[in-house]
Amino acid sequence: MNSSMDCNELVELVTAYLDGSLDSETRARFDVHLVECDGCENYLQQFRATVDTVGKIDQESIDPAFRDRLLNAFRDFR
Ligand SMILES: [Zn+2]
Repeated sequence: MNSSMDCNELVELVTAYLDGSLDSETRARFDVHLVECDGCENYLQQFRATVDTVGKIDQESIDPAFRDRLLNAFRDFR
């Protein structure tokens, strides 16, 4: 069964997505959510920009306040 992914789940999985470590089913759900949700598409773009700046994916280095700010931005946007 393919339940739809919500925004919080997508945010939790974004590092795994960029690492390529999601299983194919989860990745498909992630991609479906991205197509349907402009907020998460924007989040992924901003996250990638952050990773480019940092130089590597390091989940411990992602500021939780940054993540929360982006999540709040979606809620306002939607
Ligand atoms: Zn979303």
